[in-house]
Amino acid sequence: ETIVNRIAAGEVVERPASAVKELAENSLDAGAHRVEVAIREGGRSLIAITDDGCGMGPDELMLAIERHATSKLPDEDLFNIATLGFRGEALPSIASVSRMSITSRPAGDENAWALAIEGGKVGSVAPASGPPGTRIEVRDLFYATPARLKFLRSERAETSAVIEVLNRLAMAHPEVSFSLHDGNRERIRLRAEQGELLDARLARLGAIMGREFMDNALPISAERDGATLTGFAGLPTFNRGTASMQFLFVNGRPVKDKQLTGAVRAAYADFLARDRHPLLTLFLEMEPRIVDVNVHPAKAEVRFRDPGSVRGLVVGALKHALAEAGH
Ligand code: ADP
Ligand code: MG
Repeated sequence: ETIVNRIAAGEVVERPASAVKELAENSLDAGAHRVEVAIREGGRSLIAITDDGCGMGPDELMLAIERHATSKLPDEDLFNIATLGFRGEALPSIASVSRMSITSRPAGDENAWALAIEGGKVGSVAPASGPPGTRIEVRDLFYATPARLKFLRSERAETSAVIEVLNRLAMAHPEVSFSLHDGNRERIRLRAEQGELLDARLARLGAIMGREFMDNALPISAERDGATLTGFAGLPTFNRGTASMQFLFVNGRPVKDKQLTGAVRAAYADFLARDRHPLLTLFLEMEPRIVDVNVHPAKAEVRFRDPGSVRGLVVGALKHALAEAGH
């Protein structure tokens, strides 16, 4: 059982950044308005995440680290998933390859509860003190799987990956404040943006991507077959000299999807050399029923029921915006 957990852990959690992604997604699913992350040594020796979400009582706490236990499938319908998590896999997987402690206090409860798990061995739930919400500390990630440790890159590379993961999530959730500390250094500080979603997204994008990108980007807004596409697409002439920087989201979920990347490439084909990628951030919103996110354990790929329609929407919207801007 423990071995099975550890093997599965490699699929869900391949490096500190993937653990940070899973933990932060849980905070968002818990309705948090504030997500604070601290890491040490690129997340290898410590990942600590604190949120002000709904919290967990003693029973929920035990369930949370049980394999395939999830509180997020009210109708047990895998194709109608609106939350970020749904497999009940992340916490037990991370817990099986680290030393984890969880302190959580449900909103409205007077005190918190704590649970420690070491290399998959579950302790018992004990009363604790703490503010409403959840704090999870993951120490010595992969100490129980030395082979996995060998695949980790430099502290600097792992730290950048954590920053990228959090920035992607932060783009999709402008109403939530995010921070990241790396030892004593503050690496991310994003305040919660108020107001209409589009305005809030714009403000959040500006905070992450910088003024220069915003001044060189075209607003995108289009609709097709019940799917909507919004966001900002960098002008072909805007070149920050960096490699690909594309942020794509499907129903608020950061994805890295070949079909979507291909559609972007096609739209820019007349303006950019094949080895150049535009800087852009696109949000695709559609009914959960017509998109399957259950394709890859890390949930970065999606399967559309009608890929042709999605491609048409993306290519059409980008080409239209580029033409309007005189390209
Ligand atoms: P999933 O997100 O797929 O349900 P996880 O293993 O990531 O599975 O989490 C298991 C369960 O633990 C969740 O369904 C949720 O009930 C609970 N949980 C995890 N993190 C939090 C959190 N930060 N706040 C409240 N509940 C949480
Ligand atoms: Mg989860």
